[in-house]
Amino acid sequence: MSSTPWKDIVTTDAVVIGSGPNGLVAANLLVDAGWSVVVLEEQNRPGGAVWSDDAVAPGHIHDTFSSFYPLAAVSPTIRGLHLERHGLEWVQAPAVVGHAFPEGRWGMLHRDRAATAAALDDHAPGDGDAWLALCDTWDRVGGDVVQMLLSPFPPLRGGAGMARRVLRPGGLELVREMVMPARTLVERTFNGDAARMLVAGNAAHADIGLEAPGSAAMGLLLAMIGQSVGFPVPRGGAGVLSQALVRRLVARGGEVCLGEKAVGVCVEGGRAVAVRTASRELRVRRAVLADVSAPALYADLVGWGELPSRLRHRMGRFEWDPSTVKVDWALAGPVPWTGSPDKAPGTVHVADSLDELSLNGAQVSAGLVPDRPFLLVGQMGAADASRVPAGGEAIWAYTHVPQRVRGDAAGGHDGTPEIRGVWDDADIEVMAERMEARIETRAPGFRDLVIARRVLGPRQLEALDRNLVGGALNGGTAGLHQQLIFRPVAGSGRPETPIKRLYLASASAHPGGGVHGACGANAARAALWHNKIRAPWRNS
Ligand SMILES: Cc1cc2nc3c(=O)[nH]c(=O)nc-3n(C[C@H](O)[C@H](O)[C@H](O)COP(=O)(O)OP(=O)(O)OC[C@H]3O[C@@H](n4cnc5c(N)ncnc54)[C@H](O)[C@@H]3O)c2cc1C
Repeated sequence: MSSTPWKDIVTTDAVVIGSGPNGLVAANLLVDAGWSVVVLEEQNRPGGAVWSDDAVAPGHIHDTFSSFYPLAAVSPTIRGLHLERHGLEWVQAPAVVGHAFPEGRWGMLHRDRAATAAALDDHAPGDGDAWLALCDTWDRVGGDVVQMLLSPFPPLRGGAGMARRVLRPGGLELVREMVMPARTLVERTFNGDAARMLVAGNAAHADIGLEAPGSAAMGLLLAMIGQSVGFPVPRGGAGVLSQALVRRLVARGGEVCLGEKAVGVCVEGGRAVAVRTASRELRVRRAVLADVSAPALYADLVGWGELPSRLRHRMGRFEWDPSTVKVDWALAGPVPWTGSPDKAPGTVHVADSLDELSLNGAQVSAGLVPDRPFLLVGQMGAADASRVPAGGEAIWAYTHVPQRVRGDAAGGHDGTPEIRGVWDDADIEVMAERMEARIETRAPGFRDLVIARRVLGPRQLEALDRNLVGGALNGGTAGLHQQLIFRPVAGSGRPETPIKRLYLASASAHPGGGVHGACGANAARAALWHNKIRAPWRNS
């Protein structure tokens, strides 16, 4: 894309396109190295999918998208930013995760591992010891595993040493378990459904089928991180995390321009030289970091004419993760769960059994809207009382639906109209009813407490953040075929792009979705490295 004379031309060391957590982490690392940085953000607020608002009902603060940040809590990069000096305070629900079975049974992940183990033993003797053995392995190698996953792939410099440490006895077995299908792992490790569903429910946060290799990774990772640091949330709402990142950035001279969409990256001689918006051109001395989806970077922001034809071919095979429907409820009181645990979990999973969870994933893969959707529920008042009026509750639930709908597994059998998959108001309201009905089965009287409800379907999510294409929340499938050196396309794994000085910094890059900042950090470190500035590679 050639540059034309613009009304307004500014020059800066780096432009970061997008102010999601990855963009803001990247910008912070660059200003730390002394660079001048401008962040362009299309929306009138920063943060991407890390934001909160009180639009559902006054006094009830809902996280508009993401809520729980175990990955941020263990991310050395985010910890290294010391965001507590910029207004961030982590708080936790009394318990980490609860799996709500029918008839009021619960599988519980407590902050205290002995309490988790004792509760699992009550369900199935022996599962407590199996849990503690897993924790023991995690204690020895978990830190290195996290570090390796968050570093560029293949690992270079510090990363290679880390990989060697992870692959020693104990670590090797853990890595082997992570590449297993989640079903295989939980069925051979545990006897009872409480422990099995705790891990499998966490595995279902990613879009890999429980029978597919690699699905155990997310289950083990979230369960073990949850056991060691909990599932923290920012006091006051998810937006506080983004605001802390912005505050830190601005305090160090960075600039965030809201309501300004990047419409093109200018390339000259194979190098990124500027970013265009509707009204100006920002020329860069050093780098452009794109916190945008891979399909938006390749083709929309940089034309195919500037890119190798093999990339176009490979991007043709890029695979999105499934769509999402999210419902927020403002409640007059706590959820009246049957068999309500003494310690309220912040995160609740709703699925009857491992088989139902498998079936749910299979339906989404087959293009069917699930009839019994697996629900991820967040009880934000339980996690952070400052978000709700006294005695009230702010909860959300989300579930996955296919990107391309071929049919509705409920097929009108549940007395509600069939979902057509166009995700207009009618479709999302039917889905919200289905989700609400599921909660009502676990918590009779739930509906009577509802003050207000908001439904965000695939279209609404994308309108609020264009990276959430079709309601995909991971920047592309987490399937093994699109991870590591295959993310976003075969031969990648690192943030560099075929254009010099242009880096992919979003969740479409390795290591993918989640609020850990690693995609942004990897891009920033690569940019610094190419400018002969030696940033620490160990994310320290
Ligand atoms: C409903 C939901 C629930 C989730 N729950 C969790 C959770 O509990 N825990 C967790 O760890 N993760 C969760 N996630 C995933 C997590 O939020 C994302 O993986 C993460 O936000 C990705 O960060 P990012 O910086 O790559 O992109 P995003 O957060 O999507 O930010 C991208 C930003 O770039 C901007 N942008 C895009 N194109 C342009 C352009 N051309 N010009 C200017 N600006 C542009 C967008 O407006 C947006 O602000 C959830 C996601 C969703 C949607």
